Amino acid sequence: MTYSYTQISQYLRCPRGYRHRYLDGWREKDTRAALVFGRCFERALAAYFLQEDSAALLSKEWGAYRDAQLEYRKGDGWDQMFHQGVQLLEQFARDSRVEVHQPQRNLQVKLLNPLPPNDDFVAYIDGVGYLDGTRCLLEWKTTTSRYPEQPEGMLSLDLQLICYSWASGISDVAMVVFVRKRTPEIQYLRTTINDEQRREFGELVGEATGRIEAGQFLPHSGIRFPQNGCTSCPFLGLCLGNEQLVDAKLIRQPGASDLDWLDQLDD
Ligand code: SF4
Repeated sequence: MTYSYTQISQYLRCPRGYRHRYLDGWREKDTRAALVFGRCFERALAAYFLQEDSAALLSKEWGAYRDAQLEYRKGDGWDQMFHQGVQLLEQFARDSRVEVHQPQRNLQVKLLNPLPPNDDFVAYIDGVGYLDGTRCLLEWKTTTSRYPEQPEGMLSLDLQLICYSWASGISDVAMVVFVRKRTPEIQYLRTTINDEQRREFGELVGEATGRIEAGQFLPHSGIRFPQNGCTSCPFLGLCLGNEQLVDAKLIRQPGASDLDWLDQLDD
């Protein structure tokens, strides 16, 4: 079995959701404009490091979805997202704070670690490069709201960064957050993940995979007014037995769990 961050985080969020997705093959339909745009934008970023025309690449990639039936957030639209993307790419080039040497090798880096006795853990890291001259692991995010910076040190608790630090053995990690808002902004956030966090994450993976292999998939619905994790869960229709909701949100791909590591490319 090959595990990934997406799988482990889904299991930790709700084991029942893990079963819906990875055992039964239910997947959320790819109709969220923000998700599709994020993928196009990351390809444009790769073009920037390869010294190609990143805005032209964004236009080509995002242009393919101009007439697609995507779900836009209130206030978002194809044109607006494209212009924000171009502004962010220009700002990123002007700031010139991130360097990736040998981008063919150091972008979308695949790491495969053994999980004894018989499993593996695969991670796709957005990049390994330099932020303000310090070598670090790089993770891109496109979002509509700023990443919280207070209280200080929040970033060092980010589970995805801890996971990638564990998988790569690199302590210095950075998140570059491309914030799509009226005046687009880029946050350059860096932190250090220590040995103990990496060791604990390894234990968390061992514990989660042990429970997966023992077939423990109890729901963690997390219902507690007003935060209800089920409300934003794509599998809500399955848990409620609501076929209309299932048809609207999900598609079924039996056997999709074999290709789970591809999800890493979406994160
Ligand atoms: S709807 Fe709730 S219980 Fe069902 S998978 Fe999602 S989070 Fe878990």
